[in-house]
Amino acid sequence: MGKIIAITNQKGGVGKTTTSVNLAAALGCKGKKTLLVDVDPQGNSSSGLGVDRRQLKTSIYDVLIGAQNVEDVRISTEFENLDILPSSMDLAGAEIELIDFERRESILKNALVPLRETYDYILIDCPPSLGIITTNALCVADTILVPIQCEYYALEGLSQLMNTVRRIKRQYNDQLDMEGVLLTMYDGRLNLTQQVVEEVKKYFPKKVFATVIPRTVRLSEAPSFGKPIQYYDPYSKGSSAYNELAEEIIANYT
Ligand code: ATP
Ligand code: MG
Repeated sequence: MGKIIAITNQKGGVGKTTTSVNLAAALGCKGKKTLLVDVDPQGNSSSGLGVDRRQLKTSIYDVLIGAQNVEDVRISTEFENLDILPSSMDLAGAEIELIDFERRESILKNALVPLRETYDYILIDCPPSLGIITTNALCVADTILVPIQCEYYALEGLSQLMNTVRRIKRQYNDQLDMEGVLLTMYDGRLNLTQQVVEEVKKYFPKKVFATVIPRTVRLSEAPSFGKPIQYYDPYSKGSSAYNELAEEIIANYT
């Protein structure tokens, strides 16, 4: 049975998409059949895997409104063991359109649960908000992975996120667990970074991944080539870091 991990933090620009794309590719390279689900209208993880969104006829939006089956939306990528459910701009309207749907928080769950048979890992790249789309992701997820950028206001908004997680656990998904907190864009030369790391470890005792993602320009370049770092620059620091993270997650498997 595949494990479903939601990559989430309502704070923008903390490395959710970079982590989704490169962790998914790393798991694929290690022989794990992986599906990346892009539920962000920005569609950065779709384009990061080389999907040309202008060519798409269907997307995860059609699945959410009940117009398409996941099988008809899913695309296989040129990367090893890696498929994607791409997003489209329409998704921006879904927050409002879904208001009138019955059991609107479990639409994604109904769509993804049958795919557990096919995949070892299903990663969901969440948008930077705690709206109905993120709620859908948290309702189907087994665990959440929270990227935190090593910068000044790193912990800002985390209590809101953790409150949302507690509410979802209470109402819809009592099994929801923490996969781990991932420190991203780490720059060891800065004193501030060290302070942030200490604070995050205090806030989430025993939940912080040993792997830390360094700030490197190669990781920020790769998406413009439509490639995960393992294919864009396999021997880079960023590539090794995401491979290490994949190892940690595989070792954690329960
Ligand atoms: P959003 O909330 O908008 O969806 P996000 O949390 O998905 O953002 P990313 O898109 O992954 O964040 O990253 C934000 C920016 O930082 C991007 O330009 C990305 O290329 C860059 N970035 C992410 N991680 C790193 C890193 N480790 N080193 C250098 N740049 C990075
Ligand atoms: Mg993103």
